[in-house]
Amino acid sequence: MTRAVLTLNAGSSSLKVALFPAKGDAPLAVGLVDRIGPEAQITLKMGSGAALPASGDLTSHLGAMHAVLDGFRGQWPDLDLVAVGHRVVHGGADFAAPAIVDDAVLDQLDRLSPFAPLHQPHNLTGIRAAIASFPDVPQVACFDTAFHRNHPWVNDTYALPQRFYDQGVRRYGFHGLSYEYVSGEFARIAPDLAKGRVVVAHLGNGASLCAIEGGRSMASTMGFSPLDGLAMGTRCGQIDPGVILYLMDQQGMDAAAISDLLYKQSGLLGLSGLSNDMRTLAAAQSPKAQDAIAYFCARCQREIASMAAAMGGMDALIFCGGIGENARGIRALICDRLGWMGVAVDPARNAENLGRVSPDAAQVPVFVIPTNEELVIARAARAAVQ
Ligand code: ADP
Repeated sequence: MTRAVLTLNAGSSSLKVALFPAKGDAPLAVGLVDRIGPEAQITLKMGSGAALPASGDLTSHLGAMHAVLDGFRGQWPDLDLVAVGHRVVHGGADFAAPAIVDDAVLDQLDRLSPFAPLHQPHNLTGIRAAIASFPDVPQVACFDTAFHRNHPWVNDTYALPQRFYDQGVRRYGFHGLSYEYVSGEFARIAPDLAKGRVVVAHLGNGASLCAIEGGRSMASTMGFSPLDGLAMGTRCGQIDPGVILYLMDQQGMDAAAISDLLYKQSGLLGLSGLSNDMRTLAAAQSPKAQDAIAYFCARCQREIASMAAAMGGMDALIFCGGIGENARGIRALICDRLGWMGVAVDPARNAENLGRVSPDAAQVPVFVIPTNEELVIARAARAAVQ
């Protein structure tokens, strides 16, 4: 019997999966079903990287889930799932920890859909498909917001009349699974520094920062939605709310058009007119691509200082996410602009893309720690059913 934990990350048209053993951190297999629908593609790989055969009806999340499971069962015919862990973008004000999904929890999560209309419904589709596929296996919801649930009130609120806060209009923060993993790893590799004030920069297609003091999230650049803060692949990041009013009043844009603009057409893509992908922009050398990179780095630099200010200082800076882990040039640009705070990178160490990338003498050490959200979900799912 191969006892295992399945992790699922269901997006609007994709399903990311990983299969972990009942004990141990190395995945048995990982997979992706992309563009769920008539043109879907499925890729399944062993933990070693070897491809696994996979096919099936990929026109729905449920079909995709069966195709994934069939692929895994082809390799492990005696597969026994002990739990399924789900990435859920929004846990609202109430979920500060993973939760075993039952009807009441599903109802609660459904009610949060208006807060994250582009993500939450798809996450819940994934949970429902998993319940339909494995009705007897515990389903565990793991929230991107949970890590941030104990922010000081000043970092949790907007300066609106109190009733809006009471209705749930608050700064929730996201990428919490990534921050939980990275701060846990940091406590392992640099326990003394991890007791202090740490800024983690999760820079991927989605990007945010988190101020973490003694392992606890104190502030984040993302707020009510995953739009705020840093410029991202296609999201605008920080914007004056007056711009939204202008777009509505003077340009006659409705909520759907503004949502599309802010979530899908802005950020690196909007600035460059070329691509949302940092690698493409770095290779492009066009002035617009360079402008987009300069804006991205400038916002990172300003917001890192803001996160440090929220804690009264910064004892370490950590990069993670696709850009944070791989783009040494971007890290160098950001850190050079933070030299006045005592941040520095050592070029040779920075080229390694791993571990401590600052000189020994740097006042604020800088680290690269590859994130692993799937492992956080797998551990939470195991813990919840033990
Ligand atoms: P997501 O938020 O979708 O999980 P990732 O964390 O995978 O995104 O990050 C994707 C981003 O990382 C893309 O902009 C990609 O270009 C960038 N990236 C990945 N590898 C490199 C690299 N070697 N150099 C520069 N950017 C990179």
